Amino acid sequence: MSNLPPPPPPPPPGRSPGGRQQPGPKPPDRTGKRGFGAGWPKWTLPVMIAVVVAMIVLPQFWPSDSGTKLTYTEFVADVKAGKVESITINNSTGTISGKYTTAASEAAGNKTFATTGGGDRGLSISDEALLNEKGVDISFNTPTQNWFWSWAGLLLPFVFLIGFFVWMQRRAMGQAGSIMSVGKSRAKTYDADKPSTTFADIAGYEGVKEEIKEVVDFLRMPERFREIGARVPKGMLLVGPPGTGKTLFARAVAGEAGVGFLSVTGSDFMEMFVGVGASRVRDLFQQARKMGRAIIFVDEIDSIGRKRGAGLGGGHDEREQTLNQMLAEMDGFETSEGIVILAATNRPDVLDPALLRPGRFDRQIVVPLPESGERLAILNVHSRDKRMGPDVDLNVMAKATPGMSGADLANLVNEAALFAVRRSSTQIERIDFENARDRVVLGARRESLVLTGEEKRATAYHEGGHAVLTAVLPHADPLHKVTILPRGMALGVTWSLPEERHTYSKEYFEDVICRAMGGRVAEKIVFGHLNSGAANDLEQATGIARRMVREWGMSERVGPMAWHGQQQVFLGEDLMTSGREYSDETARMMDEEIARILLQQEERAHETLMKHRTALDLVAEALLEKETIDGDEVNLLVQAGLDQTMPHRSETTTTVG
Ligand code: ADP
Ligand code: ZN
Ligand code: MG
Repeated sequence: MSNLPPPPPPPPPGRSPGGRQQPGPKPPDRTGKRGFGAGWPKWTLPVMIAVVVAMIVLPQFWPSDSGTKLTYTEFVADVKAGKVESITINNSTGTISGKYTTAASEAAGNKTFATTGGGDRGLSISDEALLNEKGVDISFNTPTQNWFWSWAGLLLPFVFLIGFFVWMQRRAMGQAGSIMSVGKSRAKTYDADKPSTTFADIAGYEGVKEEIKEVVDFLRMPERFREIGARVPKGMLLVGPPGTGKTLFARAVAGEAGVGFLSVTGSDFMEMFVGVGASRVRDLFQQARKMGRAIIFVDEIDSIGRKRGAGLGGGHDEREQTLNQMLAEMDGFETSEGIVILAATNRPDVLDPALLRPGRFDRQIVVPLPESGERLAILNVHSRDKRMGPDVDLNVMAKATPGMSGADLANLVNEAALFAVRRSSTQIERIDFENARDRVVLGARRESLVLTGEEKRATAYHEGGHAVLTAVLPHADPLHKVTILPRGMALGVTWSLPEERHTYSKEYFEDVICRAMGGRVAEKIVFGHLNSGAANDLEQATGIARRMVREWGMSERVGPMAWHGQQQVFLGEDLMTSGREYSDETARMMDEEIARILLQQEERAHETLMKHRTALDLVAEALLEKETIDGDEVNLLVQAGLDQTMPHRSETTTTVG
């Protein structure tokens, strides 16, 4: 794998494709936390259940005071013996309870008795005759059950149902309550503070500071501007790649001017409910007015400020209303009120033109990626409070980190500190910075990945191919180092350091493609077959070839025409306008041109590597031995290879084929 131009930063650990994310702790359930209905103690539900169960179960164990238990035969015998005075027959259960005569009760030790009856009514006809004969008093009883139990049986389900509904309703009300207050919830929508950040915390970017200083002056002394009648821009848009310090700048402006700072992120306005965003915007501006002089900072404004009526599908009401409200508010206040709106985005191209017209964000300040000098300054700022060893040369570091943003550099210094801690060193040394940069740029070392001997040899030749071409091609960026230690997603890396350039020549791109082909070609030359390891290289080469043809007019045949790269429709462009704008013939011609460029460079890589065949072997051997070698060593090996081949060549000039 070769890495030219600067590779994208590696994906953060744990988010690699296919990597499963650990199930984190669940966020607390907002409604669940409040337990059974709002305001009721947590234990209410269990206690209620316990009481009900007790009421149902316990009566079973209560001794029923029904006296001596008799079998029916015993009962009849007692009647015959004249012991029974009266009985009561329960109509519904058929049980008979009765009273002994006074004499009998003394003998039995119990005044009453109970037995199960015979027959439907509890007595057979013959027994009834017997009872009558003995003069037993018979009465019947249709028991009305204990009213409590009969009602409880009926009502209990209803009680539960009603309880459940009340509970549900309270829950729903709780949510509805938070819905209703969503547009107003000040605390969550934006942070208001007075930052202590100043321009001193921002390294480099003198031009940007100069431009933005006007705002600071205005916020400090608005009278002076008013006297002259100068109008300060209401809104300024900070535009630049992620991590270049846009947010930092906004805070520094507030800090320098000593005014309030209301910061909000574009996506904070977005809610499920249409109109919430708009009301939040209103709120925000009201709050700013209350603060007197203030800066309103809308970070990532592209999330609300996209072109209206664009994108896939409908349903952008909420965003558009929010944007409209924002536009209206911006028109609604006078600059003299002392409010300045700063906004930041890395996608100025998707912003609605209405946002950019004079009177709104009429000034754009570009915050680009830092140049080498600025990178040094940023590294210095972030190393201020760290203990540095004497061998650390930040200058070298700054040169070796093209394409890194301020945030990347801050991260780099921190990673270096972490490496130093891991080494149990008391200060950060050069090696820590080297490790940190490798980690940041190339991804973490994959210690667990062990290559087989064959794979290792193939990788050594693959990277050797990239490296040799990087060393010998005239327009290639200087080679930094080559390694066959697996890192990130790659088995090996050839790392060159692009010089800081803003335009690139056709020859440069041809060399880039040629170098990308180098790995695969080297493997083919040495082992005679191809493998899957070069997919990334091919993708990169094809991407560049396509842009050469389609965007940069670097193909004679296609000529000076350009078609923008593929539009990302969902990012705010209309589907209609991003269709193909050329004929089938042109499409075929472009495909042919792309293929031609790729084949040509593959051929060139082959020729060049055949010419440096000895050097390729030397580099691959060195890689197998040391695993990592730096650019200077490769250059030496290439020279050595040439020296070895030259005499041969002069003797047999016609052997190359
Ligand atoms: P952005 O908003 O442009 O994405 P930030 O302002 O959030 O970037 O910057 C992220 C971090 O990067 C900052 O907190 C700071 O540590 C660092 N940084 C960026 N640019 C600079 C700079 N010029 N000087 C010092 N630190 C910087
Ligand atoms: Zn490669
Ligand atoms: Mg930011």
